[in-house]
Amino acid sequence: MTIKFLDLNYQYNLIKDEIDLAIKEVISNTAFIGGKYVKQFEDDFSDYVQATHCVGVANGTDALEIAIEALNLPKESEIIVPANSFISSAEAVTRSGHKVVFCDCDPKNYTISIPSLRSKITRKTKAVMAVHLYGHPCDMDMLKQIAKEHDLKIIEDCAQAHGAEYKGARVGAIGDIGAFSFYPGKNLGAYGDGGAIVTNSGELAKKCRMIANHGRIEKYNHEFEGRNSRLDGLQAAILSVKLRHLDAWTDARIKVSDYYLENLKNVTDLVLPQREEWAKQVYHLFVVRCKTRDELKDYLQSKDIQTGIHYPIALPKLQAYHYLAQQDEDFFANHNDGELLSLPIGEHMDEHSVKFFVDTIKPFFL
Ligand SMILES: *Cc1c(COP(=O)(O)O)cnc(C)c1O
Repeated sequence: MTIKFLDLNYQYNLIKDEIDLAIKEVISNTAFIGGKYVKQFEDDFSDYVQATHCVGVANGTDALEIAIEALNLPKESEIIVPANSFISSAEAVTRSGHKVVFCDCDPKNYTISIPSLRSKITRKTKAVMAVHLYGHPCDMDMLKQIAKEHDLKIIEDCAQAHGAEYKGARVGAIGDIGAFSFYPGKNLGAYGDGGAIVTNSGELAKKCRMIANHGRIEKYNHEFEGRNSRLDGLQAAILSVKLRHLDAWTDARIKVSDYYLENLKNVTDLVLPQREEWAKQVYHLFVVRCKTRDELKDYLQSKDIQTGIHYPIALPKLQAYHYLAQQDEDFFANHNDGELLSLPIGEHMDEHSVKFFVDTIKPFFL
């Protein structure tokens, strides 16, 4: 038996007829850029995440960058970013003319650490990047309280958290503005690149739409210089089809996670992730810690079980951020990147394969 980390082919086969039809329709309507399929998906997705506005863009990194630019913060503002994330969360800050300041992540659920965030706030801090990492929502009440105390904006990086809920509210528009990625491997993934910005502010949504479309609202009437970042019609139509199945696939992820949590809890050398009671985690990733991570990964590979590492190098330790000199800070994230291991998860795993996984991993620790 082989267990894949991700199986997009399996997923496609579940919905092949719907997808093929959607693609044909877009092509016969030649609605490649803009048009009704993009509009339809924006409406579908804003409903899904309970936000009043959704703006489709070219990818998740652009979504973050455009969202930050739309906030119109003073040049070189400090934006606090958790040290355990994908580089986009930080890259978008620098690319929009601001300064990245890293803080630590929480050792239980790996989202932004509230005490560490507090310790990094200065006069220049203007925003915080709330990354709902691995599909676990950040503690939004705490973030909102801190934002209020220090007059900060909250940007939600929801690239791993489509449909995740904080106290019953879907992530995305709980803070000021949220960014989603539809990279193929995400919980809701396109067949290429895609992204979206969501917000409850009509003004921010309009600004984002203009930035993403050369600073214009109508053809050739450019109010300012923007850029070109568009979700295309084919991707939008594919995403609308897949969105109809997302909740079922999320339930499948939660089922796999619950099985892991229940059946691996006695393995003392594995540290399992902890879900807060207020969280609906959508488990983009199921990340454990193990002191002998590399040996465990090789062992599983030898049994035809694929795993991943998210992320092998904490952001402050990346060459790209050495200039910030935060690589030696006493962060949980800096110390533990060598222990993180992402177990296989997704709708492609049935009861049989999760059981096989658990039965196979256990002997490693004997
Ligand atoms: C994937 C991801 C992004 C970037 O999305 P792209 O669509 O690949 O640009 C940003 N932040 C996080 C946390 C991600 O996982």
